[in-house]
Amino acid sequence: MRPFGYIDGYLAVGSVRLADIAAEVGTPVYVYSADAIEAAYREFEAVLAPARICYAVKANGNLAVLRLLAGLGAGADVVSEGEFRRALAAGIAPDKIVFSGVGKTNAEMEAALQSGICQINCESAPEIHNLSRIAARLGLTASVAIRINPDVDAGTLDRISTGRKTDKFGVAWTEAAALFHEAARLPGLTMEAIAVHIGSQLGDLEPYRRAFRRIAELTGILQADGITIRRLDLGGGFGIRYRDETPLALADYAKVVEEEVGSLGCEIVVEPGRRLVGPAGVLLARVVAVKETPVRRFVIVDAGMNDLVRPMMYDAWHDILPLDVPPVGVEYRLADVVGPVCESTDKFAEERLLPPLNSGDLVAFCEAGAYGAVMASTYNGRPLVPEVLTQGGRFDLVRARPAFTESLALERMPDWLAGSGGDV
Ligand SMILES: *Cc1c(COP(=O)(O)O)cnc(C)c1O
Repeated sequence: MRPFGYIDGYLAVGSVRLADIAAEVGTPVYVYSADAIEAAYREFEAVLAPARICYAVKANGNLAVLRLLAGLGAGADVVSEGEFRRALAAGIAPDKIVFSGVGKTNAEMEAALQSGICQINCESAPEIHNLSRIAARLGLTASVAIRINPDVDAGTLDRISTGRKTDKFGVAWTEAAALFHEAARLPGLTMEAIAVHIGSQLGDLEPYRRAFRRIAELTGILQADGITIRRLDLGGGFGIRYRDETPLALADYAKVVEEEVGSLGCEIVVEPGRRLVGPAGVLLARVVAVKETPVRRFVIVDAGMNDLVRPMMYDAWHDILPLDVPPVGVEYRLADVVGPVCESTDKFAEERLLPPLNSGDLVAFCEAGAYGAVMASTYNGRPLVPEVLTQGGRFDLVRARPAFTESLALERMPDWLAGSGGDV
């Protein structure tokens, strides 16, 4: 559900007018609703208890967002040391953190082990051997899941599918049992979990069902061989509505979980990312100019692909709303909404039916709370986009827009170039 709506003609979240945020912080800026994140979390809790909810930090790693979720009881799913340290800094206990990812370095595994991480999800034989060596050297025991590749097509966008046998993720489900046996003989490891994550923005339950069935089969085989599986990590992927999709019904998902793996007596972990934060966020931008050419009408905004890359990277659709409600009966016209970045791909929408927009007007890109700010870059010398968190009637800046001097300060001039002018 969208927490943003028009109140008295102005787009607002709670009782906060988004235009007030734009006036104070400037644009572009991400705005997240704490109330919406909390409501989404509570739904998972209510429907899936007693499953553990490990929020996928990569969807939105802002510290305030993580602290909010930590306070609600969430654990975390992280895919790098940076995300791991972020989760810890936000107050998520290491024993509630799962480390996923296809290319964990030795340094990352070492840091995770030394902090007492709950579980490391391994995705290949070499990784398991590395982890065993590191754990044994540190005198620690790693709790390990093998992430299987169940070879199911999640039926989502090609570029966010992860569970087909041609995708880089996981251990082929046909080879997982052998790897469990091999790993069970290695020092420093407790092989006690199976993980799966078949893709993102899923709208259909059948791929989940097929993946969970593979897990149940594998669990049965391993238990018969004397390897006890305590935990099943079922991943994330819960779809939301961007345009006209039907969001996955969590209650139906819970039923599938119960039917396919409920009788195995294992603890269940889920790793929602997008579903917790996506609908809770918007990206605000200001119209710089409207350019009419003989064949097109371009609405040029001050946000670019460096701030929100999903439309360019995944052909994703984001609803675009003016912050002032369009007058009744006004004529909508087709326009391309583009950013200022010097790339033709810097285009948020093509031939989109929009109400009249003029330079200076504000717009919101909806459902931008997930895979938005976390993917931002400084391409074209643009500062990283700031972030604001709202709650009830208040809003706070939770990541500032860096000053130009701050990014310049990270760079160094080699001696042989120094002294020839400038001030670095
Ligand atoms: C990205 C990811 C998630 C979260 O996916 P969503 O589609 O955002 O729910 C969960 N688990 C793993 C292993 C991931 O890589």
